[in-house]
Amino acid sequence: MGAVLLLLAGMSLQHRDDGRVGVPGFVPPLPHSCALKHRFGIDCPLCGLTRSVIDTLHGLPVAAFGRHPAGPLLVMGSLWWLIAGIPALGVSQFARVRISLWILAAALLLGLANWTPRVIQQLLSLT
Ligand SMILES: [Zn+2]
Repeated sequence: MGAVLLLLAGMSLQHRDDGRVGVPGFVPPLPHSCALKHRFGIDCPLCGLTRSVIDTLHGLPVAAFGRHPAGPLLVMGSLWWLIAGIPALGVSQFARVRISLWILAAALLLGLANWTPRVIQQLLSLT
């Protein structure tokens, strides 16, 4: 269910001209969701992930990877979770979970590898 929601939400959202994210046709954009960025101007490890998922689902994997490398992996993991759950394919529940966890772990590691130098640079620019 979560995988379906992630994919549907990502496909329905778009980047707006004002730099925010929203559903086309609806005036109010999504609220800023990052307290760290909003309060201190510093990215958290998840900053850029929503935009990355949106870019991935709109067929822009290079842009998505540039925004946050975990986005394409999360989309891939969600698709894997959905496809592997089709009983006719015969994928065991163990394999479904194990591969999903590997994809999640890779997304986490890539996200941290991307975030660490970025936040160090941001912290250094504050001093
Ligand atoms: Zn953030």
